[in-house]
Amino acid sequence: MPASILLVEDDRPIAENVILALARENLDCRHVALAAEGLALLRGGGFDLAILDVGLPDGNGFDLCRTLRGFSDVPVIFLTARSDEIDRVVGLEIGADDYVLKPFSPRELAARVKTILRRVGGRNGNAGEPAVSPHFIEVDAERARITCRGQPLDLSRSEYLILKTLAARPEKVFSRAALMDAAGLAEASLERSVDTHIKSLRAKLAARAPDVDPIQTHRGLGYSLTRITT
Ligand code: CA
Repeated sequence: MPASILLVEDDRPIAENVILALARENLDCRHVALAAEGLALLRGGGFDLAILDVGLPDGNGFDLCRTLRGFSDVPVIFLTARSDEIDRVVGLEIGADDYVLKPFSPRELAARVKTILRRVGGRNGNAGEPAVSPHFIEVDAERARITCRGQPLDLSRSEYLILKTLAARPEKVFSRAALMDAAGLAEASLERSVDTHIKSLRAKLAARAPDVDPIQTHRGLGYSLTRITT
């Protein structure tokens, strides 16, 4: 069964190119031009991923995504013509998984769609698999405890705070400074110490889950936690 994509885009030529590129990748695409139509379809469920234009005739993609996040964690890719950093960050901070800047290559967009679908493992296929699997990493803030695949991790205070921060926003890249802040590390201490904590966290996670490396290094930027569901 092909994955089902919802495209909310009011520019018809762009939409046609996207639909074509997705079809070439055997991805099924439903297209609407209005935010309200998109929201109604998303409420109905059944989509594996949504591609949202930011500027829509009856609203904007960011608001649509915020509303969507109230009831669904379906992956979202933004199409935006606005290149300033704030828009990008806002796009990702409201729970989107990726964005492409217009003008973009539909083929590249299709490749990104496939990457995200691989990452989340598809929601519509695999009949018989449980819809919700135990989370790879679970944070119990009340008990200040984090488990990996149900097994508690033995973490220092700083490691706990860093992993808790990363886990709150899977895929989001946190700078070393942001992680130092989160962990309450003194500003005077070297950012290198975040690297030390990350190294230790990786070792402890590897002891529980040797088959994956969930903490990603983004050179010159910081770290993120991969969204792993099993
Ligand atoms: Ca538009």
